[in-house]
Order: sequence, then C-alpha cells, then structure tokens
Amino acid sequence: MPLTGSLGMLETFAPTVAAAHARIGAVRPAAYARTRNALDGAVTGLSPYITHGFVTLTDVLAGVCARQPLDMQHKFVFELGWRAYYRHVWGHRGEGILQSLHEGPLPDHAYAGELPADIRQGCTGVPVVDEAVRTLYATGMLHNHARMWLASYVVHVRKVHWRAGADWLYSHLLDGDLASNHLSWQWVTGTASRKPYLFNADNVARYAPTHWHSPGSAIDTSYEALDRMARRNGPQASAEAPVHTGDGDRAEPSLRCEPPDELQASAPDPRLVNGRDVWLIHPWSLGPPPVLAPDTLLLGLFVSDFHRTRPWSERRWRFVGTRMAELTSQHWYGDAAAIGAALAGARRVRCLAEPHLAPWLTRWAECQAAPALFAAVERRCDSFSQWWFRTSHGLSTAVDLLTAEDALAR
Ligand SMILES: Cc1cc2nc3c(=O)[nH]c(=O)nc-3n(C[C@H](O)[C@H](O)[C@H](O)COP(=O)(O)OP(=O)(O)OC[C@H]3O[C@@H](n4cnc5c(N)ncnc54)[C@H](O)[C@@H]3O)c2cc1C
Repeated sequence: MPLTGSLGMLETFAPTVAAAHARIGAVRPAAYARTRNALDGAVTGLSPYITHGFVTLTDVLAGVCARQPLDMQHKFVFELGWRAYYRHVWGHRGEGILQSLHEGPLPDHAYAGELPADIRQGCTGVPVVDEAVRTLYATGMLHNHARMWLASYVVHVRKVHWRAGADWLYSHLLDGDLASNHLSWQWVTGTASRKPYLFNADNVARYAPTHWHSPGSAIDTSYEALDRMARRNGPQASAEAPVHTGDGDRAEPSLRCEPPDELQASAPDPRLVNGRDVWLIHPWSLGPPPVLAPDTLLLGLFVSDFHRTRPWSERRWRFVGTRMAELTSQHWYGDAAAIGAALAGARRVRCLAEPHLAPWLTRWAECQAAPALFAAVERRCDSFSQWWFRTSHGLSTAVDLLTAEDALAR
C-alpha cells in the first residue's frame, strides 16, 4: 500500500527495491571515475537505498561487476570502501564519533554552537552555499562535492562547530547516516584528518554550473588565505557574513519525530506478538526480508528514543514509510521501554543488526549481522588508507572481493 502524498522526490527516489536495482544497472564505472567530482557527473544516487538497507554494498558491487569487471583499485570500489570505513570507525568508537576525534585547526570552543539563520535559509549571498542549501531542501540529496563545500564554508569560513552543521545536514538528508555524515564533517574540519578541507571559487567554477559560481565572495581567494582563515581565531558565525533577506530566502522544511499518519503505527501491544516468532523491520532494513517460517510476524518498528533526538524531514519519513507499508501492515511506534516490555512475550524475535539502534535491538532480538562487502578489520584504523590496506590485502579485482573467504563467511 503506497502512502499518498505528492512529493516529487518519491518519483526521483522511488522507495522500491526495483528502483535501487535500476540505479545499479545504470552505473557506468568509467564515467563515474572520470566525472564523479562534477555536480553533473555520473554519480549513482544509490545512498538513500544503501542507508535504508534496500540494497547492500555487496548487491551494488555484484550488480556492477556482472556487467563489467573492476579492479580493486577502481574509484567506484574505493568509494564504497569509504562508507564501510566510516562504519568501521563507528564500530570501534561508538558514540565517540559525535565528539571531535582530535583537535582540528582550532579548539572546539573557538566555534559557534549554532548554525546561523542565513545558512539555514540559504541566503548567505554566497551562491555555492545558497544553491547547496536549496538543493538539499528541494531534494533531500546533495552531491558529495557540494556537501564538502557546504561543510567547509560552515566550519572554516563561518566558524560554526562541525557538530551543529552535521546534526542539521543529517536531519534533512534522505541518506543521513551518522557514521558517513558526522565523520565526513570531521574529515572536512580536520578533527578526523590531518588538515582541514578548504575550497575556493575557482574549484566551484570547475565542477559546478554557472549559477553556483561565487566570484567576489568570501571564498574567492587563495588556498593560503583560506588556510590562514581556518586557523585564525576569528569572529564566529553570524558576525562574518551578511544576512540577505528577500527573494533568496528558502524556508527550512519542517522536521518530525514520528512516522507519517498514513502508516497508522500503533503503540506497542503485547497481544500482537505473544507466543509468536517475530521478524523486526526497522528503517535501516528495508530490503527483502529473509526466508522465514510462514507464521512469522513481520513487525515494522520505530523507536521514539532515537527519532526524538534525530528528527527527519517529511520526505525521508515518506521514503521510509512507503517501503515499510509495502513490507508489512503492522507497525509500532513507541519508546524503548514499552517496546521491550511488549516483545518480552514473543517466542522468538529476530532482526538485522543496526548501529543506529544499537543500544536497544540487542536487548530485544537475536541480531543478524547485516551482510558486509569488506572483511572486518579487528584493529582500529585511524585513516582510510590503513583500513583499506588491511581489508583489501591480497585482492586484485572486485570479483576477488566478492568471492573472498571472509566475504563468503559473512
Ligand atoms: C559533509 C558530508 C556529509 C555526508 N553525509 C553522508 C550521509 O549522511 N550519508 C551517506 O551515505 N553519505 C554521506 N556522505 C558521503 C557522500 O557524500 C554520499 O555518500 C554521496 O554523495 C551519495 O551520493 P551517491 O549515492 O550518488 O554517491 P556515489 O558517488 O555514486 O557513490 C556510491 C556509493 O558509495 C558510497 N560513498 C561514495 N562516496 C562516499 C563518501 N565520501 N563517504 C562515504 N560513502 C561514500 C555511498 O554509499 C554511495 O551511495 C557525506 C559526505 C560529506 C562530505
């Protein structure tokens, strides 16, 4: 039962497994490697589907390799690796990824704690920033380069703490993922990397369409000047840039903490599950369910403890909710205590493991590890290259990766 609602994004990012596979079928690895930095480059748009578990990294790479074999060092394999690497860091550091991993160009207290209104409204007067914010609000998606530009401007030009920017961006993205998002912000800041990521107007002119170009703005300067700016204790946030109001203003879409009404999620009720086998479907496990005994109850689950601290856009709720409605007609929305108490009478409860719900799922259910493309690296790696070396050691092609012992054992 598709949810009603007239959001264009549902056409662009249809919340179906078939739409995800159509995107996999359309991946052009050579064009991807050549053009991925350009805003109109051959990127895949797969991240909302990967984030919400419609497809796994293994599905993606297997689908691409079925048409064209790739070297292990191919840019596309590498980028899938970044997602897995960020999850590796999350696995080792847990909640620690929400704090600066080490000091960046300036101490944490040198940055403002709130995102200024002109950035939120996309009316800073710097076209690259305003266009990025408008695109984000209009689509729920943003090209990787635009995310980097936006984050770099927020942190290094406006001196806003990366965490304020990361929390805001997470809540508006269709693909918001605490590991990829918060650690990318830290990478841009320089608290998870050796140096801050900086960009200037020439870089924008090279990779973005004309209306994004930003000559004469704060970023139209040399990299040396930008580096000095990033390391200088300076005026924070709103003092640095003018607030323009008028035509350029874009209202920030509202955020919500609960599923759409159409989903008719009910409060946890033990009568539904008592004595039964239950497979939990949460918002990060929206792929096809595993083969289950016919009398297994498929139960959609939204944990309010998570959603109250991490609200999502209406668009994301519809993306998730529509697919949830397709998978099952039974949904619970409730707090962790009520869900735990209600599930206690079930005969057996299972689900896919998911770090966004890590503190709760393991208390209620047998959690099966989500399929992993890359072999687990036991030792914590503080750089992508360390991790990549360990996980890809001895593999020369992507097919080796897909068929490696570790992969088969997962
Ligand atoms: C500030 C910032 C915030 C980000 N927040 C998120 C987020 O919340 N969720 C998210 O999935 N990605 C995030 N990314 C990473 C990246 O921007 C997106 O994964 C990518 O833009 C999604 O578009 P795509 O599917 O077309 O990517 P493609 O370029 O087509 O890549 C294919 C897949 O590879 C993975 N991937 C590619 N580049 C990266 C990368 N740099 N880091 C991690 N994974 C990557 C993604 O799963 C992506 O779907 C962020 C990057 C930055 C700089």
